[in-house]
Amino acid sequence: MKSRIHLLVIISAFAAVASVVAFAPRGSRGQTRTSSRKPPVKSTVLTEATKPQSASAAAAQNQLLRNELTWTFGGKQQRGWYLYDELLAQTLDTDHAPATDDFAEAVSKWQKRRGLGNSGVLDQNSWMAMVSQWQGNRLKNRASATPDQLVTAPPSDFYDPSRAAELRQVERATYDAYLKMIAAATADLKLSANQKYLKIISAFRSREYQDMLRSKSPNAGSAGLAVNNSPHFTGRALDLYVGGDPVDTKDANRAIQVNTPAYKWLVRNAERFGFRPYFYEPWHWEYVK
Ligand SMILES: [Zn+2]
Repeated sequence: MKSRIHLLVIISAFAAVASVVAFAPRGSRGQTRTSSRKPPVKSTVLTEATKPQSASAAAAQNQLLRNELTWTFGGKQQRGWYLYDELLAQTLDTDHAPATDDFAEAVSKWQKRRGLGNSGVLDQNSWMAMVSQWQGNRLKNRASATPDQLVTAPPSDFYDPSRAAELRQVERATYDAYLKMIAAATADLKLSANQKYLKIISAFRSREYQDMLRSKSPNAGSAGLAVNNSPHFTGRALDLYVGGDPVDTKDANRAIQVNTPAYKWLVRNAERFGFRPYFYEPWHWEYVK
């Protein structure tokens, strides 16, 4: 008797599962058929009813992940992607805040182009693809500059004007582009001559000098001072002052830097002059032309 009841429970449970399983494909098949057979008006209503709902669900997830997503970069655990709002806005071509439906729509469009589905959510997978895209836009040729490729910029271009002449060298074309960019930024941002924004902190660094810097801060990690082929060896990488502690990767410091008008201007305009960002260091820009 007991085993018969038991069997009955199992059978009915199985039947319930089977009906759900059977219902699922029938449901989706039914929908496909419905949209082709029934008048188009009804399917349009259906689409419009479900679309805003999913966009707002994606927006809610983005709001959470913006601060909470855990990911790893340069051997260090990172939290959230809020430090990259400005770069994201530029890449996704949207002016809408990260927690909005419009931002989720922009993410979705980008995901489709990159073959990442279209959830509209900047989750681990999509975020790491975004990081790869940014990293892929950086300087490819990292051969060291030869002395004839370098010019010595005047002290007035530097954050620290007392910097020695051999530490004021920049690759020639990079320096020309920098001067054009600074002229435009000065006009747009109404920068006065005696302020520090967008002054050069560091440009060309020889391999020997980089080794010396590394020995001074052995814990900088791979996201900090590059070990083997720093883009600074080329003379085409410029560290520019964008506020805060000039070259400190602490989140609290970068949070200050990414909100200055100087940084925001660079994100929006540097590409026109041939400069691209290193997403992780708001001050580091590379001349890629
Ligand atoms: Zn740098």
